[in-house]
Amino acid sequence: MKKIFPYQTIGIIGGGQLGRMMCLAAKAMGYRVAVLDPTPNCPCGQVADVEITAAYNDLAAIEKLASESDVITYEFENIDVEALTWLNKNSYLPQGSDVLKITRHRYLEKSTIAGMGIPVADFALIQDAERLNIRPETVSGYSPVFREIPLEEMTFPCVIKTATGGYDGKGQIVLRSEADLPAARELAAAHECILEKFMPFSKEISVIVARSTTGEVRTFPVAENIHVNNILHQSIVPARISPQLEKEAVECAKKIAENMGAIGVLGIEMFVVGEKIVINELAPRPHNSGHYTIDACVTSQFEQHVRAICGLPLGDPALHTPVVMVNILGDHMNMKELCDLAPYLPLLPNGKLHLYGKAEAKIGRKMGHVNILGDVEKTLAAVDASKIWA
Ligand code: AMP
Repeated sequence: MKKIFPYQTIGIIGGGQLGRMMCLAAKAMGYRVAVLDPTPNCPCGQVADVEITAAYNDLAAIEKLASESDVITYEFENIDVEALTWLNKNSYLPQGSDVLKITRHRYLEKSTIAGMGIPVADFALIQDAERLNIRPETVSGYSPVFREIPLEEMTFPCVIKTATGGYDGKGQIVLRSEADLPAARELAAAHECILEKFMPFSKEISVIVARSTTGEVRTFPVAENIHVNNILHQSIVPARISPQLEKEAVECAKKIAENMGAIGVLGIEMFVVGEKIVINELAPRPHNSGHYTIDACVTSQFEQHVRAICGLPLGDPALHTPVVMVNILGDHMNMKELCDLAPYLPLLPNGKLHLYGKAEAKIGRKMGHVNILGDVEKTLAAVDASKIWA
C-alpha cells in the first residue's frame, strides 16, 4: 500500500464533470493532475495540469498518462479491457480491475450483491432471446425473493436491461404485458440482457461510501433521489426516510464496499420497497447523487476519493447543512441563459452553482448543478417558483 502526497500526480481516465470535480478537489489539496479524454478542452482538461487528448483505447496515450502519473484513477466504468490490463500491470491503479469487471456487468453485479445476502430486485439472465416469454402476475400477486430466480418464474411487470453499457435508463424497457415482448426479444437478440422484477418502490435513495487503501471505510449521509426521464433531477439530504431504513442503507453500503474490497468512492443506488432496502446498482466512482457533499458536508465525495486512493486518512463525511442538489441539463437552459445566470439569481444567496464548462448545451446533457443549502421544504418551494425546471 502506497501513500501519494501533494505535488505528486493523479492521472484520471475520463475528463467529464466527475473528472473535473475530482481534479478541483485534488488541486486544492496540492496534487498535480493529468487527464486522458478524447475531447480537446474537456471539462477536466480545462483545470488539469496535463491534458492528453486521445481515444481511451489508444495504448500509447494510456502509457503517456501512466508515465505522467504516480497514481491512476477513473471517472467512468467502461474502460477498455486491454488498457485496464496494461495499467494494472504497469502503473499504480489502487482500485484494481476486479470491482470494475463486476459493476460493469449487471448480471455479475446483481449476483455478487445477492451473494452477500443483500436484497436486489428478483433477476434472471436471458439465455435465449427468441423464446423469451413472461407470464402475467397471478391474481394473488407476486412475492419477491430479492435474489436470482429462474427465468420461467419472471412475471409482468418487469424491466429488461442490457447487461453492459446502459446508463440513465438507456438500454432498458419496462415490460407490462405481452405487447411489449417483441421489443424485449429484439433488445435481447442484439445484446446480452437481464430481466428484473419491477420494484414498487416508494423512494429512490443512494449512499456514497468510501474505502481507502488502508481499509478505512466511511459513508456519507443517505440522499433521497428524484429522477425525471430516468435522469437524476434532485437529491434531497437528509433523505426523508425512517432512522431504521437509514441505518440499513448505510450498513448495506459498508458491507458491499468491504466485501468487494473496493477502493475509492462507490455510489450505491437503492430502492425503498415497503420497509426494505433493495440495491439497484453500483458505480465504482463518485456519483451524481453525491454532488451535494461539495457544499453540505465537511468533506466532499471528490476529496474523499482522492484521500482514499492516495492512502490518506478519510475525512469526516458529516452533513453540516440540509441541502437540495438540482441538476442542470441542456434541456433547462441554452448557453446564453446559462451564462447570464438571470433565472438562477433568486436561488443563489444560499445556492452554490457548479457549471462544468461544456461547450454546447444538448438535451439530456448534464451542464451543471446547484446545491441549495438550508431548510429542504423551503428550498423545494423556491426551486418550483424559479420555473427553471418546469
Ligand atoms: P438503472 O439504469 O438501473 O439505474 O435504472 C434507471 C431507473 O429506472 C432507476 O433509477 C429507476 O427509476 C428505474 N428502474 C430501474 N430498475 C427498476 C426496477 N427493477 N423496478 C423499478 N424501477 C426500476
